[in-house]
Amino acid sequence: MTNLIASEVHDLLVRLGVPAARFTGGTLAVRSPVTGEEIARVVESTPDDARGTIGAAVEAFTAWRRVPAPRRGELVRLLGEELRASKAALGRLVTLEVGKVVSEGLGEVQEMIDICDFAVGLSRQLYGLTIQSERPDHRLTEQWHPAGVVGVISAFNFPVAVWSWNAALAFVCGDPVVWKPSEKTPLTALAVQALFDRAVARFGDDAPANLGTLLIGGREIGELLVDDARVPVVSATGSTRMGRIVGERVARRFGKSILELGGNNASIVTPSADLELTLRAVAFGAMGTAGQRCTTLRRLIVHEDVYDALVPRLAQVYHRIAVGSPIESDALVGPLIDGASFEAMQASLRDAKAHGGIVHGGERVDVNGDGSFYARPALVEMPGQVGPVREETFAPILYVLKYRALDEAIALQNDVPQGLSSSIFGNDLREIEQFLSGAGSDCGIANVNMGPSGAEIGGAFGGEKETGGGRESGSDAWRAYMRRQTNAINYGRTLPLAQGVTFDI
Ligand code: NAD
Repeated sequence: MTNLIASEVHDLLVRLGVPAARFTGGTLAVRSPVTGEEIARVVESTPDDARGTIGAAVEAFTAWRRVPAPRRGELVRLLGEELRASKAALGRLVTLEVGKVVSEGLGEVQEMIDICDFAVGLSRQLYGLTIQSERPDHRLTEQWHPAGVVGVISAFNFPVAVWSWNAALAFVCGDPVVWKPSEKTPLTALAVQALFDRAVARFGDDAPANLGTLLIGGREIGELLVDDARVPVVSATGSTRMGRIVGERVARRFGKSILELGGNNASIVTPSADLELTLRAVAFGAMGTAGQRCTTLRRLIVHEDVYDALVPRLAQVYHRIAVGSPIESDALVGPLIDGASFEAMQASLRDAKAHGGIVHGGERVDVNGDGSFYARPALVEMPGQVGPVREETFAPILYVLKYRALDEAIALQNDVPQGLSSSIFGNDLREIEQFLSGAGSDCGIANVNMGPSGAEIGGAFGGEKETGGGRESGSDAWRAYMRRQTNAINYGRTLPLAQGVTFDI
């Protein structure tokens, strides 16, 4: 079994077009969380490589910004085709490198395809405004121009989708992309780069060299992107700890950052909720992806009238949910990414107990020996929103709290430093609308009768407060990848000044 994963990974990479020299004999060891075994040694970028790559992207920009946007969309259409053709192989690689169950590995690639489709249409819809001028024979307009090189720094848990949310938009907006994936997931990044290179080769000569490039390495390589004034936009996805540093450093050089950071997402279960539907939604939201989504449900705020009808049943689901290998079983909960993640989970559970929590589950499950870290998801009944409940532990822990009045539930939901996603379960229109109102959830995402995770690409994705404020993906998130230019045009023969100012010489 052990060597089988490494050899399957090598086969997949070669089939996807990655030269073997890129992932053998390098300095960055990659382990599969499925078994803990080493599956590749990837060649890392040096600081000089990184500076050269950024310089080459700047050069690509001078050509790409002149290619008409609908033609740029054609490149993204071809990328979507490549992803469709390689969906099974890339999805499988996601499963082997990150440990996602099969349907989630495939779902991540589907999300890439979806955003490509979205971006192709967008390439004909990068609209500006026409604005009425206060002066005679004048016209005001607003145009959107390409911004320049976009740096993308991504997290391990969506190793390929996050790149595509950014890159598909950036390419149609006229921007080259330099991508620094997580050091835990360089293999899927190499595969995506190979598919992108194939799309470029089919596109033809008007795609400049180095339009989309990859930097392999850890934080130090990321910092080179962050600090380089030739990169006007840095999109960084990861922990709040990382975003606080990146946001400050990019701002110091007046660059723009798109920050997609940690969440501490809650669902409120009201007395009118459909409890069957709630049970299923909570199970997926809290345990799917082994609790390693930024939008994972981490806090369940349940009305006291339905608490006893819901929480004991939920505890039973936690007790029997299938935890196991994502490749050898139909388990719904796969491994944690590594031992540090398991330790962080255990530390939070100890802390929760110290604060009066009653813990169900959370123990290690032996699936593939000592090198891999599988855990039974933990359901923790808490007396209040204290200690670890206020933090994001990137593992499957769901804290349950009881409430009496909706105002109290909404206050609890908002009273954490993070502001990514949220949801409410119920059928009382007034309660639902209160939750969605300006006085309701303070998150970037607020759902009704579903959990907080599993967003579609059509909407803008991101959150407030310590989640960083960035928006990616659908709606008008594209604007972050362009620069706005206001144009005032005088087609008359006089020079009237705005606000009635006179200046006769
Ligand atoms: P992480 O912060 O450890 O690493 C993320 C990326 O940042 C990696 O590529 C890493 O090399 C890089 N990095 C770290 N420090 C840096 C620095 N100082 N300068 C430049 N780059 C730096 O996060 P992780 O453990 O890979 O991912 C889990 C976290 O990501 C969770 O907090 C999760 O909520 C968050 N996340 C957020 C979203 C979102 O859209 N809001 C999506 C996915 C994950």
